Amino acid sequence: TSHLPDVPPNNVSIFTKLFSSRTPGGSDVGGHPGSWTAYVDAASGASLTRADVKKLALSFAYGLRDHPTTKPFACRGDTVLIFSPNTLAWPVVLYGSVAAGLRCTLANSAYTGHELAFQYKDSRAKLVLTAEEGISTVRAMFADIGLSNAEADKRILVLGSDLRWAGGPAATSRPEAAGLLSLEELFSRGTLKKEETFEGAAVHETVYLCYSSGTTGNPKGVETTHKNITTLVDIIVGFPLPSGGPPILGILPFYHIYGVSNLLHHPMLIGVPVVIQTRFEPVQFCANIARYKIAFAFIVPPVLVVLARHPAVDSYDLTSLEYMLSGAAPLGSDLVKMVQKRLLSKRKPGSTCLITQGYGLTETSPSTHMLDFASADRKVGSVGFLLPSLKARLVEDDDGDAEEGKPGELWIHGETVMKGYLNNPAATKNAITPDGWFKTGDVAIRDKEGYYYIVDRKKELIKYKGFQVPPAELEAILLTHPDIADAAVIGVDSVEQATELPRAYVVHANSAKIKTAQAKAAFADSVAKWIETKVAKHKYLRGGVGVIDIIPKSASGKILRRELRDQAKQEVARG
Ligand code: AMP
Repeated sequence: TSHLPDVPPNNVSIFTKLFSSRTPGGSDVGGHPGSWTAYVDAASGASLTRADVKKLALSFAYGLRDHPTTKPFACRGDTVLIFSPNTLAWPVVLYGSVAAGLRCTLANSAYTGHELAFQYKDSRAKLVLTAEEGISTVRAMFADIGLSNAEADKRILVLGSDLRWAGGPAATSRPEAAGLLSLEELFSRGTLKKEETFEGAAVHETVYLCYSSGTTGNPKGVETTHKNITTLVDIIVGFPLPSGGPPILGILPFYHIYGVSNLLHHPMLIGVPVVIQTRFEPVQFCANIARYKIAFAFIVPPVLVVLARHPAVDSYDLTSLEYMLSGAAPLGSDLVKMVQKRLLSKRKPGSTCLITQGYGLTETSPSTHMLDFASADRKVGSVGFLLPSLKARLVEDDDGDAEEGKPGELWIHGETVMKGYLNNPAATKNAITPDGWFKTGDVAIRDKEGYYYIVDRKKELIKYKGFQVPPAELEAILLTHPDIADAAVIGVDSVEQATELPRAYVVHANSAKIKTAQAKAAFADSVAKWIETKVAKHKYLRGGVGVIDIIPKSASGKILRRELRDQAKQEVARG
């Protein structure tokens, strides 16, 4: 059990928790002044106060449910799919959908139409909220699932780049948005007097459906409930960020649970403004830190590679950046030290630059462990201690507890563990024991002081720069290639890029055709290029393609991934 005191039980929806006034008729929003800035659009400087977010969210909720076109698609319990990079519209539409009693499924904004179609169908979404740049992909998705253009267009709501509703600049909307329902149109329709409530047993209703492959197989909808999220925000309240502090930078994608929890929910609870950057780009990242005097940023390890090596770091004043919390992937201690050395070399002696990390999964809403800043330097490489209200076990061979100080699979128990995988009882049963322990698929060690270290991954998942790359999904696609008889995908480590890279091994359907080394290399090259026409960028085979005679498998037909990982290491060593 965590050494920290449990958080009190939560019995309201996430909207009620974050937005209801603490005093009857009060002007506060969730306990902080409504006039405080909540979100800022980094590019234009347009901003929303806490009261603005609440008002616009309730207006969006009303427009979404009341509008004659959207009404049939948006009743309590229905699912909407959000497909957009980070924008100022995100908090409004996310909270507005929740206020309307809807579930939100959040999709990677780099998805292809085909990838999106899988999530739309699997989540049984009824409506897509898309940025202008995503309209053509959404239309391709509807074509993929066989919907006519007229029917498809009724199910699209555009989150345009015109920010006049937030006091920001006007933008000429793109031609593809013509005729589609827009955010502004919804705002003009009225307002919901009160949000849908989720109390008693209803706190266990699903509110978010992010997709994760879990330990094996294809992506699955993770049923995150109101209770999961309200508990999580209380668990991390004030940690690692102090209440009412300076702005933080919002570069993590809002469509990942790491972004939702840490950049959309948590800052509202503690009254800290979030400066929203559309997507990570090194120069913009540095420019925004300097412009908005950012003190804190949630990051993923590859951001540290930029801070260690990119020339933009020398062109901007980054002295305000005192704290960073990394998550979503393993963080190397050498990288941490390189960044600290570079940033501190430009600061007065005694200045602070603390880099710490957290750990968690989509299935645990997400954070389960965090390294406190006080221990950041002493415990580099650790993911910290177990967060309050949670229990953990380190399990050997899916059964007994590992000996003290020895590695074991990390299992988690607590109110932040997902309800299950959507419409997939078999996968849920595999992941959660009958007494509620969730199996992470990660191998950890706990030291004598209670600090955890992630030392290995038991599951097949690959993570490219924090994004999930499920091998089973890529393998299924590779098997549709006319010249591929069998395929397996594994991750190879890239120290320079602080990430894993997906690498495929393929067997040619007719080996007589690729006898020479040259022919093999040309085939491998063509497969890597072919995959790029099928999937989002983070799934590209950046780790290369190896052509082999046979994929190593167990007697039961399971791919022996460890063998392939060892083979890849030897190939890398040989150059
Ligand atoms: P996701 O559900 O996309 O957040 O992915 C969760 C997985 O990311 C975990 O099961 C780990 O394998 C990995 N992960 C997350 N945080 C860390 C960390 N701090 N160190 C090592 N691996 C991590």
